[in-house]
Amino acid sequence: MPFKYPDMKARIMANTVRGVTSYNRSRCWMWKGSLVGGQYGRYGKIMVRAETKRYAEPHRRLKTMYAHRLSFMVFNNVLLEAGAKVLHLCNVPLCVNPKHLKNGTQSENVQQCVREGRHVAPNRKAA
Ligand SMILES: [Zn+2]
Repeated sequence: MPFKYPDMKARIMANTVRGVTSYNRSRCWMWKGSLVGGQYGRYGKIMVRAETKRYAEPHRRLKTMYAHRLSFMVFNNVLLEAGAKVLHLCNVPLCVNPKHLKNGTQSENVQQCVREGRHVAPNRKAA
C-alpha cells in the first residue's frame, strides 16, 4: 500500500494550520491531528508506522508519539535519546514548528514553566 504522503515532513505539514501566535517572527504550526493530554496541556499525537519507527523510543515500543517531538527530529534530521525532551520556545503546546522547538531536559522544562508562570502544582486542580 503506498503511503499517503511522500515523506514525514509532508505528513507533519499536512496536519498543521498556521497559528495566530508566533515566535521569532515565524508563525506557530498548530497541530490539527489527534491529541493527547499532558501535564502542561494538550499535545499533538502522531502514529509512527514502519517508515518512521526509527524515531520511536525502542524501550517503550511506542506506536504513537508527540507530534512536536517527531517534528523536531524530522526537520532537524536528528534522533533524540529516550530521556531528551523537546521544549516549546513559543509556549504553545500544540505548535510543531521546528523553529519553535528546542532540545532540553525535563528539569529545564519545569524551570521554564515556573519562570513563565505556567507551572501548576500537580495536586492542585485547575479552576
Ligand atoms: Zn510555535
